[in-house]
Amino acid sequence: MSDDADLANDTAELLNDIALKRHQGRVMQHQVWKGGGVCCTDCDAVIPPERLAALPGCGRCVGCQTAVEQESRVWR
Ligand SMILES: [Zn+2]
Repeated sequence: MSDDADLANDTAELLNDIALKRHQGRVMQHQVWKGGGVCCTDCDAVIPPERLAALPGCGRCVGCQTAVEQESRVWR
């Protein structure tokens, strides 16, 4: 009976957990790279110089770029 509600609850908790971990990862990334570089337009994490060298002009970190690409794939 309440399986659907339980599932929704679990999913919400899982997404919360992922969001928290992603946020923590971004903070760590920010601390590592705050010495210089370009900030991600989506989350303000600093983009590593290696990524800028490989993809000149990119405005997003790896995580945000991947998310954008996945979303655009879903909506097309
Ligand atoms: Zn980002």
